[in-house]
Amino acid sequence: MSNPGTADRPLRVAVVGSGPAGFFVAQHLLAKPDLVVTVDLYERLPTPFGLVRFGVAPDHEEIKRVTRQFDKVAAKPGFRFFGNVDVGSDVTLPELARHYHIICFTTGAETDRRMGIPGEDLARSHAATEFVAWFNGHPEYRDRQFDLSVESVAVVGVGNVAVDVARILSRTAEELSTTDIADHALEALRQSRVKEVYMLGRRGPVQAAFTNPEVKELGELAGADIHVMEDEIELDPLSRVEVEQSDDRKLQKKLEILREFAAHSPAGKPRTLTIRFLVSPVELVGNEAGQVEGLRVVRNRLVADGSGRLRPEATDQTELLPVGLVFRSVGYHGIPLARLPFDQNRGIVPNERGRVLAPPRDAPWPGVYVSGWIKRGPTGVIGTNKKDAAETVEAMLEDLAAGALPSPADPEPAAVESFVRQRQPATLTYADWQRIDKLETARGEPQGRPRVKFTSTEKILAALNREGRDR
Ligand code: FAD
Ligand code: NAP
Repeated sequence: MSNPGTADRPLRVAVVGSGPAGFFVAQHLLAKPDLVVTVDLYERLPTPFGLVRFGVAPDHEEIKRVTRQFDKVAAKPGFRFFGNVDVGSDVTLPELARHYHIICFTTGAETDRRMGIPGEDLARSHAATEFVAWFNGHPEYRDRQFDLSVESVAVVGVGNVAVDVARILSRTAEELSTTDIADHALEALRQSRVKEVYMLGRRGPVQAAFTNPEVKELGELAGADIHVMEDEIELDPLSRVEVEQSDDRKLQKKLEILREFAAHSPAGKPRTLTIRFLVSPVELVGNEAGQVEGLRVVRNRLVADGSGRLRPEATDQTELLPVGLVFRSVGYHGIPLARLPFDQNRGIVPNERGRVLAPPRDAPWPGVYVSGWIKRGPTGVIGTNKKDAAETVEAMLEDLAAGALPSPADPEPAAVESFVRQRQPATLTYADWQRIDKLETARGEPQGRPRVKFTSTEKILAALNREGRDR
């Protein structure tokens, strides 16, 4: 039999997860000129786009325009969206394998890394992942409570997620009220009594993970003064060598931005956002009610490890930051997927250029692939996933050409659709999403907001039932 990918035998692909990686995999496949292919994109939530909807900050609306590209992918012949279908519980991998030559997991990194210090589980200590999902209206996080009646908050980490969290905590209600932030978060943040926000970097400014436009924006907030301590951005000898040997202009620019912050005198705004360097949290201190009332940090110095990377080493100087709320923003982490191998340490599915490697011999599992954060770990911006998806699609096409893909028992598109609908009668199509999109946009219009999100699956289904769902 000839390889699939022709008009009489189209290649059938299932992609699991509709974040950037899932859409980019679909885009690359559907753009191949000599390949006849169908792509079914599965998403466990009723809405598409993963972290573009539930991660990207509400005050960064322009970043979300990438979804227009995804709309074009969805409009291509051969594309279908199966929303509100969890692969693992509603349908399983072996069940899908009956219908597809290829199954590609693009499920992201849905949980957080921990700091591993005493007090981490006290009340008022949270993962940034939860806070971000809450203010973005993720249906599974809408009922979370964050005590914003405290005056001081620490955000641990100086990556771009930490910047997002610190910025949202520092924005005025007026600034937030023109965004698509979830209504429940807008209301809670309107009542916020927070006055001091600290962002804590365990290494120095040279090593800070945030990018320049993101950190620069922290100096432009209407209601918060930025504060950086001069002695904490003074470069130690090892960092100075790193800067001298680097021809990265962005690094110079980053230091310039931070020096400007340090030189800046406060304008008397109601809040202060302080970026600290060379401090590591060692303990969250609780009050009698078991709530955070302080964060003990230790000052660090930088030392080179075997590979020349500068790592923090604790000194004997500690201090207690009197904060009543702590968000750890020390990275996301993948979660294991039913029936797939998993590298717990890295939080990824073991793979070689996107080919899933299965035990016991770590050989490629025919027809099973990964892309995005579940493939390489939780780093990189939206565009990084496009290149990553191209690599996975290349591996798929090599395997197709080599005749190495399995043959599904029932490749008819109608068969899998009726099977999925049997398991999940409330399966949503892309046309359903477009209706929701319109309704959300219309809800936002009178308030001058890009949209007002529906934040529960029930409300989405009810709205669609009123409008008439696509079948
Ligand atoms: P995700 O976007 O997480 O998508 C995974 C999808 O899989 C989700 O929709 C999930 O619901 C679905 N899924 C999971 N399990 C299943 C299952 N079992 N069955 C079906 N579906 C499933 N990048 C930028 O360029 N600009 C930014 O401003 C920016 N802001 C960010 C803000 C935050 C808080 C975070 C965390 C990241 C941000 N990024 C930003 C990075 C960017 O969002 C990521 O690079 C990108 O989203 C990773 O794509 P992904 O498809 O691998 O994962
Ligand atoms: P990240 O960039 O990897 O940053 C993680 C931060 O946590 C680093 O500062 C790291 O410090 C620190 N950290 C890790 N373990 C720690 C510990 N035990 N104690 C103290 N600090 C610790 O991850 P992220 O912020 O979660 O972002 C994920 C990805 O999404 C990144 O690629 C980011 O650029 C992207 N993103 C982009 C945007 C945007 O473009 N606007 C917005 C949000 C996210 P060390 O460096 O010392 O390890």
